[in-house]
Order: sequence, then structure tokens, then C-alpha cells
Amino acid sequence: MIYIGNHLTSSKGFLAMGKMATKLGADTFAFFTRNPRGGSAKEINPEDAKALMEYLEEHKFGKIVAHGSYTMNLCSNKEEVRTFAKNMLKDDLQNRMEFLPGQYYNFHPGSHVGQGIEQGVSYIIEALDEVMFSGMRTTVLLEGMSGKGSEIGKCFEELKMIIDGVKDNHHLGVCLDTCHLWDGGYDIVSGFDQVLETFDSIIGLERLKAIHINDSKNPLGSHKDRHEKIGEGFIGSEAFQAIVTNPRVQNLPFILETPNDDEGYRREIELIRSWQK
Ligand code: FE
Ligand code: FE
Ligand code: ZN
Repeated sequence: MIYIGNHLTSSKGFLAMGKMATKLGADTFAFFTRNPRGGSAKEINPEDAKALMEYLEEHKFGKIVAHGSYTMNLCSNKEEVRTFAKNMLKDDLQNRMEFLPGQYYNFHPGSHVGQGIEQGVSYIIEALDEVMFSGMRTTVLLEGMSGKGSEIGKCFEELKMIIDGVKDNHHLGVCLDTCHLWDGGYDIVSGFDQVLETFDSIIGLERLKAIHINDSKNPLGSHKDRHEKIGEGFIGSEAFQAIVTNPRVQNLPFILETPNDDEGYRREIELIRSWQK
């Protein structure tokens, strides 16, 4: 069995998200730690965080997957953008995620904006080395990207470069996104298992901690990153059935980031569960 859920908004607090997830038939979820397009964050209510932790335990949830802000570009060509990003990451990991001990935090590695992959990767490593700390209970997940623009993390080799460069890398894992894989040129339709094989040989499957499950509005290798509802895009239902039942990804949290309202998510969660039986 996989854990399945979707992105929720945290405006009503932590426990409210847990209850909302249950309402949608989910047993995991994702949420933004701060305004995804700005970066501002509201004060954490420790009581509410504790109530969510108890709720997750009681309702047998899988790991929940917090998501860093989209504006967080650790490898920008502008120093102030990198500093802004590093401060957000630091605040997320040191002051916010620790209220939800033992969960996942995923973020987009960033865009190098013309400086080249090596330079970009070294900025990301530098930032992670600086803000991760011993005793940190969060596992930080690098998200695999579609390769739009100058995005870093479009292939397993680039993710591996980051992991290898970070000193305390046992806190690091990977979150794959089916739309990003597909748009990035990994043919998960003809062979999800082969893609996992490749991942295993380059990074090691034990680093794979979560999957974003999205169909794609575009064909293989398009580097576009436009998510579609499950079964309505170029990846298609049949491929998703093979993905969610693949024995090597069982027990991972699967997060829907499809263009849906609550009712749409409830139906997608139900559909995916029906494929597992
Ligand atoms: Fe993402
Ligand atoms: Fe994603
Ligand atoms: Zn995406």
C-alpha cells in the first residue's frame, strides 16, 4: 500500500489540515511552509503542531511532505536572491519543521540562470551545509525537476551531485514528481520500473522518500512542467496503475498536485486506492 493525499492550504492551521485530509480519504498530505509565491510565513502555534502530530499517529498517516516556497532559489545568479532563499530554508528547517518532528520537507533545487550547472550545484550544497544541523529531525527532499529553463535537478545525475556534495547527507532524500520525470524525458509510461532501476544505480532507491503524482499536459521530454489530472494527460491511467502498484515504491507518501478542487481530489484519491486492491 502507498500513502496518498494532496496539497492542502495551511491557513486554518495544522490540525485542520489533518482533518481535511481524512475528509478527502487521504492518509498523508503536503502543505506550503509559507506563502509559495512570496515567502512570508505566519507564527507557528506549538499546541496546534502537537495536536497534528497526535492526529497523524492516531489515524495512521504516512509521513507528511512540507513544501518550500517557489520563490526560494538557492542557486540564483543574484546574491540577494540566494541570501533570501537561504534564510527561508534556515527558518523552515530550524524554526518551523522541528515542531513537526520526523516529517519530510521538499523543495525545488533552483535555477542557475545561466551560471551553469556546476556553479548552481555548489551554491545549493553550500546553503544546505550551512542550514542543516546535527539533531535535525526532518528529512530534506530534493525534488526532481522537468528541466524548464535552467532548472537544476532535471536528471538523477544532478540530484546525485548535490547529495554527494553535502557533508551531513544522511538528512537528504529525493522526491520524484511523475510530471517532471516525464517532461524531463524519463519514459515512465513504457517502463516505470526501468526508471527506478536507473534511479537506483545512480542515487540508490533508499533515498527515494516521496512521489508527487501528476499527469502531464505535454509529451515526453517537453520540459514544460504543466500538471494535468490523473488519466487526462500524456501519462495516462494505465501508467499510473503500474506506478502505484509497483512493489518498490510501496509505503511511500504519494502527493497529488493536480489541477483540482476538493471534490476532484477526493475522487482521484478514491480512484488510486481502487487500483491498489
Ligand atoms: Fe514541487
Ligand atoms: Fe511536484
Ligand atoms: Zn511541477
